[in-house]
Amino acid sequence: MKEKLNNLKIEFIERLAIISNQDDLEILNKDYLGKAWKLQEILKWIKDLSNDDKKIIWPEANKLRDFISEEIEKKGLEIEEQRYANIEELEKIDVSWEYTNIPLWHKHPISITSNLLEEIFISMWFKVEDGPQVENERLNFDMLNIPDNHPARDVWDTFWISDEINKDKAPWEKVLLRTHTSPVQVREMLKWKLPIKIIVPGRVFRYEQEDARHTCNFYQLEWLVIWEKVTFWDLKWTLETAMKKLLWEKTNLRFRPSIFPFTEPSAEIDVSCQICAWTWEKNGKNCSMCSGSWFVELLWAWMVHPKVLSWAGIDPEIYSGFAFGMWIDRIAAQRFWVNSSRMFYQSKLKLNEQF
Ligand SMILES: [Zn+2]
Repeated sequence: MKEKLNNLKIEFIERLAIISNQDDLEILNKDYLGKAWKLQEILKWIKDLSNDDKKIIWPEANKLRDFISEEIEKKGLEIEEQRYANIEELEKIDVSWEYTNIPLWHKHPISITSNLLEEIFISMWFKVEDGPQVENERLNFDMLNIPDNHPARDVWDTFWISDEINKDKAPWEKVLLRTHTSPVQVREMLKWKLPIKIIVPGRVFRYEQEDARHTCNFYQLEWLVIWEKVTFWDLKWTLETAMKKLLWEKTNLRFRPSIFPFTEPSAEIDVSCQICAWTWEKNGKNCSMCSGSWFVELLWAWMVHPKVLSWAGIDPEIYSGFAFGMWIDRIAAQRFWVNSSRMFYQSKLKLNEQF
């Protein structure tokens, strides 16, 4: 019997020696100490031994069981230590490594401009809001006083989400790629927390013929203030301050009355062309951003329609509001003297590396 115990021990040691992971160790553990453990078989035989022999074999069997259990535990710790050592080796970082030959990443000019605009408006106590790029028709058009079949919808050639998704939806619930960031204004108004003083930067989509000023997707920033006694003067001062901070001190703004079929009064705002201002002799009339007019249309502004306010549950008798929107792409082009906003979407590293 002693020999059997001895053989079992040798067999165990041999198997243990070749084990190098926790899974195999678990199998070994089950084989020797689990319910079907090999020691169990031996204990069955012990039953038939004489009492004197039992007295000798019992302690031996117990000793073997303790030995196996300790060895398995020790092996488990060794395997864990080895695993950590491997991780350390694989993930080690050489802090003295020379990084100079690696090209550094650059922020995209649109991100730089958007972040700067956010900083400027936050310094004027505006809150930054965001919304989904896939919107429903109700928020993108209806609640902004642009009902179905309204001629204003032609201003924005819309990318609709596939018929497959839209076919079972009610007309106002049909989903589309938002054509402007204005749905976020409605979302904010529906929170019923006044006063509202927000900016909404974000990506929008239109089915446009592409040229130096137009692209199929671009970035807008909208501004919305709803308060008592908001005047056009507030709008003008805020815009002039922001543009001078962003571009340069001598930037001129030109306000032109304009007609948006869904708002009244409305204005379009041109900013003096930065490219021409700095390279007058070189470009002059050939500037593709302003076509030689010295001004670029960068912003538009309007008074929030009383209907829009009342649909959102805000009393138009007490509150009024102005909103404006701007093309971040065109502003980035002006700020960095890039003569076509299309270049921002061509993934050209040579352009990005300059910023
Ligand atoms: Zn120009």
